[in-house]
Amino acid sequence: METKRDFLKKLSLLTVGGFMAGSVAPVLASTKNSPTVAGKKVVGLQIYSLGKELTDNVPSGMKRIAEIGYSTIELAGYGNRKMGQYDVGEYRKIVDDAGLKITSSHVNPPERKFTKENVTKISDFWKQAVEDHVKLGVKSLVQPMMPSIENHEDAKLVCEVFNNAGEISKAAGINWGYHNHNMEFKRIAKPGETPPSGPFASFIPFGDIIYDLLLAGTDPKLVFFEMDVYWTVMGQMDPLEYFEKHPTRFPVLHIKDRSVLGQSGMMNFENIFKKAYSNGLSEYFVEIEKIKADMTQFEGVKQCFDYLNNSSFVK
Ligand code: MG
Repeated sequence: METKRDFLKKLSLLTVGGFMAGSVAPVLASTKNSPTVAGKKVVGLQIYSLGKELTDNVPSGMKRIAEIGYSTIELAGYGNRKMGQYDVGEYRKIVDDAGLKITSSHVNPPERKFTKENVTKISDFWKQAVEDHVKLGVKSLVQPMMPSIENHEDAKLVCEVFNNAGEISKAAGINWGYHNHNMEFKRIAKPGETPPSGPFASFIPFGDIIYDLLLAGTDPKLVFFEMDVYWTVMGQMDPLEYFEKHPTRFPVLHIKDRSVLGQSGMMNFENIFKKAYSNGLSEYFVEIEKIKADMTQFEGVKQCFDYLNNSSFVK
């Protein structure tokens, strides 16, 4: 009889095998969001969106997330080898009992500035984090905050550390990714280059965009990019241009707006979804940070779900 352990082992072998075949997109596409559950859309939620409203009572909060209609969650709050106050196994059981599935988790390493001296510490951290996340049952592990990058040398070291984290994760059957805010779209001068100055300096492109250095310096077989489409727009960049240029590197997205999805007029979600699907989007997570004063986080999270559920461009 096949034990649960055998089954999990087979799953991770499949993932690793897919990666070794050389392309990230086809592997992740096999778990692509599709209306397979009795016509229900598979919508994911980054639980950071709920803040204290969730952490005050996790079991009841998880049930509320499922009742709204979400199917999967991406964690935030892993630290000291625990999820908040819970052991990882205990936390997984609470989520399972609510009928949700943990597919991803945001985790930051203990250092913000990577140096030759602390890379081993960071690598050891990822080994532990991966061990714990195998227990949580995730497909993806994602670093959500940018390490300090002030020049090309910093960027090169960050890429090495990311590749290493990707390798550690891959060995356990977990995909490792990076999530952006807007600071990744800042430019840094090329070695020896002087940045433009004068009253119109900000209109003159120079050097390299940090995000582009991260895309170029990381191995596509080890590191994927979870683009936060709102923060990309806030960085004055067009998500579609990135999808066009790097079709296999954005299998997972953060679907976010200034507040409730679809209300700001800043985000063209129809174009974003269309292009992302054609690139083989694997999954996405709704995120809401700034909530309107007259609304609870749960109400905001519900309105975001309703927006996607009622949008014909979302499969
Ligand atoms: Mg985000």
